[in-house]
Amino acid sequence: MAATTARLEKRDRQMQAEGAPTCPKCGKPMRKMIAKKGRNAGNAFWSCTGYPECKGTRNFE
Ligand SMILES: [Zn+2]
Repeated sequence: MAATTARLEKRDRQMQAEGAPTCPKCGKPMRKMIAKKGRNAGNAFWSCTGYPECKGTRNFE
């Protein structure tokens, strides 16, 4: 079962790499994150891979 989970995670990362937008502030690729707190807790959003130096975010649609 663990191997199946690993494959799914790898596929998920590849999909993110292909579909990820670029940061509006610095142009780096972004990664999908799930808000853990605040009014958007539980919702997905794009976070800059340059975080914490860059705090650029985009709405996940
Ligand atoms: Zn950025």
